[in-house]
Amino acid sequence: MSRIGNVNFVNKSLNQNNLTAKKKFGQNFLTDQNILKQIVAASRVTKEDAVIEIGGGLGALTEVLAINAGKVLTYEIDKDLVPILKNNLQAFGNVIILNEDILKVDIAKDIEQYLNDFKNIYVVANLPYYITTPIILKLLEADTRISRYVVMMQLEVADRICGKPKTKDYNALSVVVAYRAKATKVLKVPRTVFIPAPNVDSAVVCLDVYQEMPIKALNDEDFYKLLRISFMQRRKTFYNNLILGYDKEFVKKMLEDLRIKPSIRAEALELKDFVLLSDYITQNLAI
Ligand code: SAM
Repeated sequence: MSRIGNVNFVNKSLNQNNLTAKKKFGQNFLTDQNILKQIVAASRVTKEDAVIEIGGGLGALTEVLAINAGKVLTYEIDKDLVPILKNNLQAFGNVIILNEDILKVDIAKDIEQYLNDFKNIYVVANLPYYITTPIILKLLEADTRISRYVVMMQLEVADRICGKPKTKDYNALSVVVAYRAKATKVLKVPRTVFIPAPNVDSAVVCLDVYQEMPIKALNDEDFYKLLRISFMQRRKTFYNNLILGYDKEFVKKMLEDLRIKPSIRAEALELKDFVLLSDYITQNLAI
């Protein structure tokens, strides 16, 4: 049970400190006990496990995590919130609060420094929506010890994460997620449970990172670069996107050799096609 995740506590914490939620940091504070409990339950975290939280805010989710996990490492970018967060969580000896930008930290180093004693490391967070995609791409591409993500995001991004080829929701994020993890949408969350209410509804997504990847590129960097270039401009053909990042003649030959039509759209290609292309690049493109 969280003391913090309710309307009165959130309003009181902000008022007493002369603060309002900052839009530029994507601050929408959760005020629903039930949703908080469901998020933490979906993570299946136990006292044996450590959790990384992105955006502690006022500590509503941090508190439920501290009760259920062995250790919680929470990042909060907003220096105005950090003292309040520390104060709200002072009863817990297992919470580390870092006033850092998640996009700038070396996550593998922090895991080693703060969470090394734990076998399982999960990310559980109500993400700042303006940077959901860069956060997920950064963490998945970093290839860390994190084995599960239970993260709240706007519904539209959740649909993209779970997006299948040939649908409007399918993009580079869908492919990176499919490459590294099994994605499941676990909960839809209405906008009314946040202060302030965002303009869109949200969803909680669970990503179970593959311990044995079903399909693996020869070189991950080549694979991630290919994805970024492939989906750079949705309206363009696959060929026209590829030549933004690779030599024209090389692209022509690659598509010919792999029997892929230049006029195809990136959305029509599946994970295995991107791995095939990436391996071709690794083997044939001189650096
Ligand atoms: N966990 C709280 C809750 O559920 O009520 C707050 C969630 S709020 C959607 C997102 C939080 O992420 C805010 O507290 C915001 O200040 C923080 N944040 C935004 N950008 C960040 C970044 N780059 N690194 C770390 N925290 C960030």
